[in-house]
Amino acid sequence: MFIIVVLLLTSSVATSTYEPLRIHVISAFGPLPLPIQDSLIESLESLSTSISVLKDSSRIEWSEIIDATSEYKQISWIYALSGQFEENLHVNGKRIDEFLNAADFLIVMQRNSRACGKDSTLLASAKPYFDGGQHKRPRIGLMNVCVDSPIWKEFRAHVDLFRHEILHALGFGTFYAGDSDKRGPPKEKHAWQTERGVKVLRNRTFLDFSSSALKEASKHFGCPKLKGIEAENDKKIHLNEYVYGNELMTPRLSNTKNFFTFISASILEETFFGAKQWYMVNRTAILAEQTAYWYGKGGGCKFAQGSCHEFIRHREKASQTTFPFCSRVINNCINRDGYEERLSTYCRKNHINKAIATAVSDDSAYRSCPFDEDFLNDSLPPKFKATVCT
Ligand SMILES: [Zn+2]
Repeated sequence: MFIIVVLLLTSSVATSTYEPLRIHVISAFGPLPLPIQDSLIESLESLSTSISVLKDSSRIEWSEIIDATSEYKQISWIYALSGQFEENLHVNGKRIDEFLNAADFLIVMQRNSRACGKDSTLLASAKPYFDGGQHKRPRIGLMNVCVDSPIWKEFRAHVDLFRHEILHALGFGTFYAGDSDKRGPPKEKHAWQTERGVKVLRNRTFLDFSSSALKEASKHFGCPKLKGIEAENDKKIHLNEYVYGNELMTPRLSNTKNFFTFISASILEETFFGAKQWYMVNRTAILAEQTAYWYGKGGGCKFAQGSCHEFIRHREKASQTTFPFCSRVINNCINRDGYEERLSTYCRKNHINKAIATAVSDDSAYRSCPFDEDFLNDSLPPKFKATVCT
């Protein structure tokens, strides 16, 4: 039955109206510093291979760029990047028309030093610019890169960062008026079981545009009764960090590999309004990532919907691994913005000075969990490294 549904869906969006996504970039600030710039180029190539876009015959006009961001109003020259090719173009020149004409989607670089200064862990952010429905789909995205962040020195997953940001720019999960039928399940209360077994009521939010993604996630976790794709918070543009770990569209990137899976691919494809979907993701191109995505795989509903403490107890009873969590109580400390916070962590391993016991983000902050040291060493930015309590 499932195979039949897939075939029908595929045939209903004839590939002739879709073409490999050509993303061009313009910047009023010149190229990014190396090697960040090389990673941006690599991410453009990677996404062009895996994503096709609905053809839109009307070209992007310079006036639209100014509407999208007033920063470009007074600009005469821009740095322009298309694939491996880069050049400086005059905004009134002939070449700019050709450049914009050849793009399916344009990333406009911004310098928002206020946003960068507000969050020292922020490396980049991006969002779509939508013109209120004049065109079939968004064609411009705005991206801010915090080039001065000290995190770049330790950060290695540059290409994944740009893939993540570009998906935001394309509109991933962004709700548009008129799409009420594509809303995810409503926000709900759920019982989070603490380390001591006490149940505490917490809020849980779900992503929109996620009916196909839900099937993929159910398969991944081995949880047929999964309610929805849990979002990071009410903005609903990220998968939940605690549940989805090193998937590409969680809010914090792993420092090793972040996987563009069928879950995010399905959400991107469902994010559209109008008669035709905006994007198609080539499953063959991301199959290796889909297969390699291991976080929570086969963890069941206990992993996907319960608390780490329940999961650990359940797994220990069955003499199964508790990874990515670990399970022997050790008191450990984390320095968070100058305050030392004592955390109880479980770990079978002896390297307690490197272990850490917290989930790392917004709405998931109550999910203080004992993660395995090996997982943490690759996954957390340096400022979250734990030390032994003093
Ligand atoms: Zn993000």
